[in-house]
Amino acid sequence: MDGAAGFDGLRSAEVPVVVSLHATKVLGVGEGGFIASTEVGFLEGVRQRSNFGFRGNRTAEVTSTNAKMSEYNAAVGLAGLDNWSASRLKWLLSATKLRAALDKIPMVRFQPGWGLTWVSSTCVVRLNPKMRNHVDDVFKDRGVSTRNWWGIGCHAEVAFKDMRRSDLPNTAGWAENSVGLPYYPDLSHQDVEDVASALMAAAFRVEKGSDAS
Ligand SMILES: *Cc1c(COP(=O)(O)O)cnc(C)c1O
Repeated sequence: MDGAAGFDGLRSAEVPVVVSLHATKVLGVGEGGFIASTEVGFLEGVRQRSNFGFRGNRTAEVTSTNAKMSEYNAAVGLAGLDNWSASRLKWLLSATKLRAALDKIPMVRFQPGWGLTWVSSTCVVRLNPKMRNHVDDVFKDRGVSTRNWWGIGCHAEVAFKDMRRSDLPNTAGWAENSVGLPYYPDLSHQDVEDVASALMAAAFRVEKGSDAS
């Protein structure tokens, strides 16, 4: 499972979860990541296939690669772990500022628990569909960046769209109606105010009914 952004939220992993430690994540090592699982045999297989297919000796037993984390990246990660509780608080503080400023806009919904019980390095909020139509223009006019982090949803990408699947109403709903807002440690009061006032302007356009899309 893709839990790339889930370093702080991961609690248990019955399904193997891949967590990214890329520089853009809350705990970054540069390039790298890890796999979490409760299946010890599965993890041994992963370790073997990421280390030339060796298992206890120097015989390449299975198809494999060298996917070990470099010593340098591992050292950066260890330093990051030493500092993790302080840096996690900084992410939480920025999230709290955003939550407080946006609380008064009922058309904006945070991911459950985001910035309260877990942090990630992006802030993706779900908007009322009508409001979503206005956000890109309003933010662009004001010079505030947004990101459509989840695109159209993985299931709708060219490489996957013809694959068999069940209905994915939640995935589709989040893909269509979410937006990534500016968010980083040390988010200033002014940054937060700019985001809040842009969202208010988009909400105002919905209320005026200027739904020109
Ligand atoms: C960051 C991220 C990735 C990519 O992780 P890499 O370590 O750069 O490969 C994939 N999926 C999600 C959801 C992510 O947040």
